[in-house]
Amino acid sequence: MSTIEDLAHLDLQPLANIPLKKLRQNATRLHGVCRYNPGVDKKREGLNPTDVKEVAIHPESLNDEWLRYAEFLLFHEFLHALGHSGHNRIFRTLEEQWPDNEAKNMGREFAKHLRKRNAKYAWTCPKCDWKTERTMKSSGRYLCRTCRVKLVDKILA
Ligand SMILES: [Zn+2]
Ligand SMILES: [Zn+2]
Repeated sequence: MSTIEDLAHLDLQPLANIPLKKLRQNATRLHGVCRYNPGVDKKREGLNPTDVKEVAIHPESLNDEWLRYAEFLLFHEFLHALGHSGHNRIFRTLEEQWPDNEAKNMGREFAKHLRKRNAKYAWTCPKCDWKTERTMKSSGRYLCRTCRVKLVDKILA
């Protein structure tokens, strides 16, 4: 992280004192979070690592195949910890500088992976057999994008 030019002037050492936690294993939408101390105003100027209670990332990202994404998640949350509470342009510019480009794009696949892991139904097109795995039933509310036919729910074992 210290090799990133725009961060080189900052003291990154305090980041090492932030407790690292794991999200609940069954979390699906959240991949990582930077939790500030109670009462901290996130909009305050000069927010810094001592305002942070903890950083948590999804436990599933710690599996070998997702480890590079976990590093990027941690970097993302550390940027929040360094005082950038929102995802504004400055934040995105800093985030862009993470050297592992592939890891930056793993979010989508990871989301898919989590969804699949928790899936109970396969929404299936009876015509072309396209399917997508979900936790909820589609209950006739969705059409196959290609065939415009109602998807049916198949229960996953
Ligand atoms: Zn964020
Ligand atoms: Zn179809």
